Amino acid sequence: MKKENIRVRFAPSPTGPLHIGGVRTALYNFLFARKQGGTLILRIEDTDQNRFITGAEKYIVDSLGWCGLEFDESPQKGGPFAPYRQSERSEFYKEYIHQLIATGHAYYAFDTESELESLREKSKSAGGTLFQYNFQTRQYLQNSLALSEETFKSLLDSKTPYVIRIKIPENETVVVHDLIRGEVVVNTSNLDDKVLFKSDGLPTYHLANVVDDYLMKITHVIRGEEWLPSAPLHVLLYRFFGWEDIMPQFAHLPLILKPDGNGKLSKRDGDRMGFPVFPTAWTDPKTGEIFSGYRESGYLPEAVINILAHLGWNPGTEQELFSMNDLIQQFSLERVGKHGSKFDPEKAKWFNHQYLQRKTDEELSLLLKPWLDKNGVLPLPEMLSKVIHLVKERAFLVPDLWSNSWYFFMRPVHFDSQVYQKIWQSGTNSLVTEIANEIETLTVLNKDTFHTLIQEYTQRTGIKTGLLMNPLRLLMVGSNQGPGMMDLADVLGKEEFLTRIRLGLESLAHLQTK
Ligand code: GLU
Repeated sequence: MKKENIRVRFAPSPTGPLHIGGVRTALYNFLFARKQGGTLILRIEDTDQNRFITGAEKYIVDSLGWCGLEFDESPQKGGPFAPYRQSERSEFYKEYIHQLIATGHAYYAFDTESELESLREKSKSAGGTLFQYNFQTRQYLQNSLALSEETFKSLLDSKTPYVIRIKIPENETVVVHDLIRGEVVVNTSNLDDKVLFKSDGLPTYHLANVVDDYLMKITHVIRGEEWLPSAPLHVLLYRFFGWEDIMPQFAHLPLILKPDGNGKLSKRDGDRMGFPVFPTAWTDPKTGEIFSGYRESGYLPEAVINILAHLGWNPGTEQELFSMNDLIQQFSLERVGKHGSKFDPEKAKWFNHQYLQRKTDEELSLLLKPWLDKNGVLPLPEMLSKVIHLVKERAFLVPDLWSNSWYFFMRPVHFDSQVYQKIWQSGTNSLVTEIANEIETLTVLNKDTFHTLIQEYTQRTGIKTGLLMNPLRLLMVGSNQGPGMMDLADVLGKEEFLTRIRLGLESLAHLQTK
């Protein structure tokens, strides 16, 4: 196959926000397409009207865009195989379902949902095998294969609702050649006659998916492992349509597992363990509930990409940090494992930390800007870059830049009374005042002058440094947190340092009298 003919698709159903497992599927499709010089398609699989959620398609496009994943053909961009929304393609599916009926590979079934439900119940209570609509049971059920020609016609004439099912042959072998798993062999007697066309006149996922992969000339189907059980049915459809020669190659990606166990990573794991499972925030249109995303929690898109790249794919080297271009160069389906990978929330933060460290001061200032703006802070550029240097190493998520730096820009309003009670002694007030008086005599307050001043003072008076520094820290930041005192003195400068001592003492006096 010529490389430029490689065509892959990401085919989400707009039933809600995209789970990071879905983002990973999109990413692997993207990397595969870019590496091969192929085409990446976004196809919206919205034939299940009951599960359709308004806004989900926009969310999918926007959140993947935030991750840096752009499509070559999509509902938004159009392309030679438009439309790219299945709900707009119903005419195509009708044509193909009729082809299957005509060739004897599909049939009409009139059984109602409640009839089928009671059959399921019956076989459950009899303790036997689960009821399946298949080569054994279909002969006793309400379908065009079992009913007389006459009954069938009259049901059609009276517009009795029906579905169209695939006629799965008995005891044949289907082989799915999977690029990740090798050969998956299934006997057709274990498959059921899945519905291909619903009573609402729309196809089910199986039919629409196969027809569109064919029509859109898809060469590789790269999707999550949860679709592996459907793959034999899809292979049969290709066979029945006579498209086996041009059937796409399959690659089913391993699951992303929860951090503490073997199940699939779910939204609940994220809630329970405090990490997001969606790329960007999602507001549930029905309940108004807001779910945080990686973006809102302070992850950088390049970190999210790296986290996901490593969840399933293995570069085969020690390299951990990749640019998108590195990934495109190095990605291959051969290096995607069969087994699920555990999501590690700590490692995710580590990745983000690494990418934050690689940002320039200017980029970090931009990340910090929303907080500065919100608090009406307008620091001088030199001060800003000084502060960023001081705090960046401690930042794992973007908001850490602010939580580790606000005290350089703003005076504390609250003072931690517990810390106060613990460290403040009867002589502390006069001690602090004495230090303030000494600072007053300095021409400038910076790291060196402050260091010398403290050293001389402690040597002269025999007072322990801690007894001095802890109260000063409380006055500067309102708690026992924050950066080194030398750095604080250096950034704040003499005037601000003294003002904070004065205002802090006033507030603490108030705390004392309360
Ligand atoms: N619409 C399916 C989904 O929501 C697509 C599965 C596939 O890629 O074939 O994941």
